[in-house]
Amino acid sequence: MDNRQIKTDVILIGAGIMSATLGTLLKELAPDWEIRVFEKLANAGEESSNEWNNAGTGHAALCELNYTVEQPDGSIDISKAIKINEQFQVSMQFWSYLVNSNLIHNPQDFIMQLPHMSLVQGENNVTFLKKRFEALSNNPLFQGMELSDDPGKLMEWIPLIMNGRTSKEPIAATKIDSGTDVNFGALTRMLFDHLKSKNVDINYKHQVNDIKRTSNGSWELKVRNEYTGTVQRHTAKFVFIGGGGGSLHLLQKSRIPEGKKTGGFPVSGVFMVCNNPDVVAQHHAKVYGKAAVGAPPMSIPHLDTRFIDNKKSLLFGPFAGFSPKFLKTGSMFDLITSVKPDNLLTMLASGVKNVPLTKYLIQQVVLSKEKRMEELRMFVPNARSEDWDLVVAGQRVQVIKDTADGKGMLQFGTEVVSNDDGSIAALLGASPGASTAVHVMLEIIKKCFPQHLKEWEPKIKEMIPSYGVSLKDNPELLHKIHTSTAQTLGLSKNKQYQS
Ligand SMILES: Cc1cc2nc3c(=O)[nH]c(=O)nc-3n(C[C@H](O)[C@H](O)[C@H](O)COP(=O)(O)OP(=O)(O)OC[C@H]3O[C@@H](n4cnc5c(N)ncnc54)[C@H](O)[C@@H]3O)c2cc1C
Repeated sequence: MDNRQIKTDVILIGAGIMSATLGTLLKELAPDWEIRVFEKLANAGEESSNEWNNAGTGHAALCELNYTVEQPDGSIDISKAIKINEQFQVSMQFWSYLVNSNLIHNPQDFIMQLPHMSLVQGENNVTFLKKRFEALSNNPLFQGMELSDDPGKLMEWIPLIMNGRTSKEPIAATKIDSGTDVNFGALTRMLFDHLKSKNVDINYKHQVNDIKRTSNGSWELKVRNEYTGTVQRHTAKFVFIGGGGGSLHLLQKSRIPEGKKTGGFPVSGVFMVCNNPDVVAQHHAKVYGKAAVGAPPMSIPHLDTRFIDNKKSLLFGPFAGFSPKFLKTGSMFDLITSVKPDNLLTMLASGVKNVPLTKYLIQQVVLSKEKRMEELRMFVPNARSEDWDLVVAGQRVQVIKDTADGKGMLQFGTEVVSNDDGSIAALLGASPGASTAVHVMLEIIKKCFPQHLKEWEPKIKEMIPSYGVSLKDNPELLHKIHTSTAQTLGLSKNKQYQS
């Protein structure tokens, strides 16, 4: 153990999209601050942010049916969809700012325009989709959405899905052309390259093993260099725990009261990938369906065109499953070691409540490839087993906490946990995920650096013109932002991959 204390202003734990985004924002707002990053793996963007570990959907609530909930009176609540769409516009503006300022280049390497569609079958589902379409299409954020229940039109939109379909059940879909496929792995790597050029000290193969408060109010981290086996002590005035699935254990080590009575429930994922170019060429969209009864929201099936490494492929899934690991590269003991005296009752209560979910997830893990093909054939009736392979996706650790609704409630969103003086913050949960990274990191900046906000606000507004403004109530600003971000990110012209 090296007994020297190495001081810095900011430490970011983990080299995923969240740390990349916070580091980039802070470098624009406080260029003189010293930032240090510790990542236990050999490169940036290797865990959930990696392109093969997530679905790459630019979540703007254009197609995800779980963001619009049918109320008991039959009306559709679109408030969550509005919130997520507005948050995605924040990401789009920040990415455009980075491209316009030459801080990152070649946006087509991380974002492509791709129609987002919702597809349902059965009379009740079609009625729901029509009501949802009416509610959304009147809102400027969802302008351009189309609906069809005409099989001929659907054949034009999604030939791969309609070909060979024998069911006589009513079917309908909505489509909006302004959706996106985002390669969050490529974006993460671009942002870390940029941070390196700004002298941010990025340390790969460095695992943070402990975090504790020092007597002067800083945070001291014990960091193990995996190359040499040595352990160093690093201190900082502000620490961001951006360890993805690894964040809960680190939060617990910090011992902040705000992190108590919180647990995590890991959900694994598997996609099927099609590399047969003839099949791939027949599909050009992200098509989201409805989750099976009893399935968690993160296992809503979707068939996605993906653009990875300049190659078009198709991804279907995710099939959710159970693994006790909190990271794909984590340990089988992650779940058990996350149970502490302060969260034991919360975890037990959650365990009792979530028996059916756990049973469902375990059943999913043991599904054979042929069983998964059967689910795929509900989307692609003519799918052939030899065209599709399985790929293991990232782990999502859902937050478990006590809420007004009861003890041990499973949360499906993202939670920022910070202490009272804002000197440490952790991000837990994984949904809507990477798409809303800029919004979430701005929330952390607001919570943790209130004393700098006034001074930083003009720069934030330069980077994100809609900062502090509701876009749904400002259609003119929304139109301006749509036009300029599409132009800067090359979204209207990147059609070269279309079949
Ligand atoms: C199956 C699946 C599908 C998804 N689909 C989408 C989607 O379509 N759209 C979307 O927007 N989001 C999606 N997400 C969510 C999205 O991938 C995540 O929200 C996002 O990548 C999280 O980024 P992160 O930086 O917090 O974590 P990560 O990318 O996991 O990065 C955390 C990093 O911290 C490192 N680390 C952990 N512990 C330590 C430690 N002790 N010391 C040092 N380093 C450490 C890890 O090695 C890792 O590199 C999906 C996720 C999954 C799993």
